[in-house]
Amino acid sequence: MDQQISILIIYTGGTIGMVKDPDSGILKPFNFDNIYLQIPALKLLDYKIENYCFEPVIDSSDMDPHHWGEITKIIEVNYEKHDGFVVLHGSDTMAYTASALSFMLENLNKPVILTGSQLPLGMIRTDGRENFITAIEIAAAQEDDTPIIPEVAIYFENQLMRGNRTIKYNAEHFEAFRSPNYPALAEVGVYIKYNHSLIRKPNFKKLKVHTKLDSNIAVLKLFPGISKSLVESVLQTDGLRAIVLETYGSGNAPTKKWFIDALKKRIDQGLIVLNATQCQGGPVEMNKYQTGVTLQDIGVIGGIDITTEAATAKLMYLLGIYNTPEQVKQKLSQSLRGEITAT
Ligand code: ASP
Repeated sequence: MDQQISILIIYTGGTIGMVKDPDSGILKPFNFDNIYLQIPALKLLDYKIENYCFEPVIDSSDMDPHHWGEITKIIEVNYEKHDGFVVLHGSDTMAYTASALSFMLENLNKPVILTGSQLPLGMIRTDGRENFITAIEIAAAQEDDTPIIPEVAIYFENQLMRGNRTIKYNAEHFEAFRSPNYPALAEVGVYIKYNHSLIRKPNFKKLKVHTKLDSNIAVLKLFPGISKSLVESVLQTDGLRAIVLETYGSGNAPTKKWFIDALKKRIDQGLIVLNATQCQGGPVEMNKYQTGVTLQDIGVIGGIDITTEAATAKLMYLLGIYNTPEQVKQKLSQSLRGEITAT
C-alpha cells in the first residue's frame, strides 16, 4: 500500500505564481507544470504532489462566489485521494475566500491551507517560497494518522491562522495578515508549533459541500456625515436580503431619527442587518451604550467578534440555504466554523 502523503495544490493565481518574462520584464503567471524548476526544494519533501490550475489564473480582485464553488468542487472530487490541500491565492481577497470555504466545506476533516505572497516566486527576495513550502508541510502534518489541521486556514509569514478569523491588514509588509480576535493555530520558526487546544477537532463525518450562495447582500460602512440618500439607496437595493452594518467601536451607530427609522422599516420588511465593528479587534456589545441599545431594539443582530470578511461569507452561505430571515438570524448568533466567539 502506498503510504506516501498526498497533497493537491490548487493554483488560482495572484502574485505568488508570477515570474518575470525574460524578454519584456513584465510579471506573468508561470506554468505550474514547471513548479519543480521554480522551487527545486519541493523535491526534498517526501510527499506526492499533484496540482490543479485555474484556467485562466486570476488576480484575486476578480474572485467571486463562482470561483469559490470551483475550489470547493475540486476539493470534493479529490477529497478521498489526497491528505491535504494547498490553495495558492492572491492575498487581496484571500481572507474572503478562506471564510467562504470554511462555510462551504461542512464536516471538513482535512487541511485546506491558503497561502500566497507579497513578492512573486520568481523574484529573489520572494516570501512565496517559504510560505508555499511551509503550507505544504502543514497540509501534510498528521498525528496518529489524523491531520493536525482539519480546517480551512491561512498560512502567511510564520503564522497559521483560522481562515475565517483573518483580515489582510498590510498591503506591503510580508506579515500581511492578522487574526485579531483569535490566536494563531500555529507559529512557525525553527519548529512548527501547533496550538492544539485552539484547533478544531475532526468530527469524522462525511464531507458536505455547499455551493449555493446568495450574494444579495451589502456592506454599509458608517462614517460621520453619512447622508440619508446614501443609506436609503443601499437599503432600497433590488433583491437585497441582508446587510453587514459596519459600526463604530463596540457596535455603535448614529441615533438620528431618519437613520433608525430607515433601518427599522427595512428590518420589519425582512431585511437582515448584522452589526460588525469597524475596529480590527474586539467584539460588538450592543448593550453597552444607548447608541447600540437602539440598534438592538429595532432588531439588528450583533455580530460579536466577526470580521467583515467572515460576515459577508456567512450571510451568503446562510441565505443560500435558508428562505426565512428568522432561520438565518438564528444561525448568525451561533459559531458554525469557529468564526465567532459565541458564549
Ligand atoms: N493583486 C494580487 C492578488 O490579490 C496581490 C497578491 O497576490 O498578493 O491577486
